[in-house]
Amino acid sequence: MGSLKNVIIHTSDSPHGNAVWIDRMHRKRGWKSIGYHCVITNGIPDRHNYDRQLYFPWTDGNVEWGRPFDDDKVIMSREQGAHAYGHNRNSIGICLIGKDGVYSHQQMLTLQHLCRQFRQMWKLSPDAFIGHYEVDKQGETCPDLNMDDVRAWLFGGRSLEAVRGGPDHAHYVNADITLREVVWDS
Ligand SMILES: [Zn+2]
Repeated sequence: MGSLKNVIIHTSDSPHGNAVWIDRMHRKRGWKSIGYHCVITNGIPDRHNYDRQLYFPWTDGNVEWGRPFDDDKVIMSREQGAHAYGHNRNSIGICLIGKDGVYSHQQMLTLQHLCRQFRQMWKLSPDAFIGHYEVDKQGETCPDLNMDDVRAWLFGGRSLEAVRGGPDHAHYVNADITLREVVWDS
């Protein structure tokens, strides 16, 4: 059992994905289930549709549920994630589907919405919202965003366009998805 101190932001490091897919991968590693608490999808749910260059707008910026959690700051063992070495007892993990700091506009708006609600719900300071690379060497550059910029944007007045990429990336890339959008006539 632990107590919630941080919300840690991650990347899936893949151009497509969803919570079920990550759950399957993490179980293969021998974990009890998906290691993240939330996954924010980017409109390309899986490899098959990525190969077909299909973009599903209604799956862009959705929050998918992973490990369970609730509104108190007590992290019970069933709520403990597996996403940041040495910090799992004291944090909630959010995974952005994307690669090389490329996330859709809708994903970023959802991230902001989620983090603002978490901040209110758990009475956290802006500094409590951190990137994986800030606390765990294994995180390398994860989530490939400059977290000082991210915090200034999440809770301050900085514009999303001013958020730069992580240590390896000079600029934040706002993914204008060039794939074929899947729409139906009503
Ligand atoms: Zn990570």
